[in-house]
Amino acid sequence: MTSRIAAVALIVAGLVMSTGISLAQVFSLKPKTLDEVEAAQQTAKDSAEFEYLGTLARLCLLPPSRSEDLSDTTPLYVSDPSKAPARATWYGEPAKVFDNFYFIGGKVHSAWALKTSEGLIVFDTIYPYNSEELVIGGLQKLGLDPKDIKYLVISHAHQDHIGGAEMIQTRYRSRVVMSAPDWDLVEKLPNRFKTMAPKRDIVATDGMKITLGEASVSLWFTPGHTDGTQSFTFQVLDRGRPVNVVYSGGTALVYEWALPEWSIKNLATYIASQRHLAAKARETGATVLISNHSEFDNAYNKTRMLAGRGDGPHPFENTADWVQRYFSVTENCARATQLKVERMGPPLR
Ligand SMILES: [Zn+2]
Repeated sequence: MTSRIAAVALIVAGLVMSTGISLAQVFSLKPKTLDEVEAAQQTAKDSAEFEYLGTLARLCLLPPSRSEDLSDTTPLYVSDPSKAPARATWYGEPAKVFDNFYFIGGKVHSAWALKTSEGLIVFDTIYPYNSEELVIGGLQKLGLDPKDIKYLVISHAHQDHIGGAEMIQTRYRSRVVMSAPDWDLVEKLPNRFKTMAPKRDIVATDGMKITLGEASVSLWFTPGHTDGTQSFTFQVLDRGRPVNVVYSGGTALVYEWALPEWSIKNLATYIASQRHLAAKARETGATVLISNHSEFDNAYNKTRMLAGRGDGPHPFENTADWVQRYFSVTENCARATQLKVERMGPPLR
């Protein structure tokens, strides 16, 4: 070891003497060229800054959160409700966020209500074990009547969003809106969606509008998180001022190291969806990014900030360019992941 260091020192000394270049030049490290994975991750980090740290962490840094699991087993919290997570881990107070837009979620997951002169449009419903308290109880606490839920829009058929859909459809006769692939998924897996499955109703398509009273919600087909994930753009009012919202329906990346071909394709679908929704957000001038998980839009903490707003800016509102940065984070993290899957090659047998 010592002799190797001595040899290197001799070579360096020789170089310095024979070429006249300085020691500093010999040791100056050329900036390393970023490889494609690092470059995509760096773009995501630069886009996220502190605003989208949760999205960056989930998509670029943490392992996959959910795989392509098509098993049809009844969740434990349905077969044995005493096994549902403790209330303290998920309960959060509802909040009026804009003049006509309400947070009826909890600490981890979010559901939302848009109030119109003709009734309510509710987005997502969280789990079967807490939709009663968070969604129905939340509306009541805010002075809204769950009987007024005219439309229930489900972003995608995962149990943390569809959990209360069957109950709301049965009890309030609300129209349920979901895309065809996710209606199919629910019908295909009766045990997985036990107590959660609404009967097939309105089939959402890209560009469709749900209109109620003066409100109009545009539905955008954004598959990738599930085959039928949908996202939304609509307008809310902040102290009478119109504000445009983009609601991202499914954010976490879905891939399997053991299924590279499928994963690469699914991530390509996801990337196309991010671009599609980013374009709709740009066209509508969206300055508010809403999600159904607080880790992506910081909704739970932002609702706590509303009370101290005074005459300041709305805690959920940003510039349209900052909303675009969210889509740069999701797209670039998906691209980095796709490259990683490509490099792994076929799975070992
Ligand atoms: Zn999901």
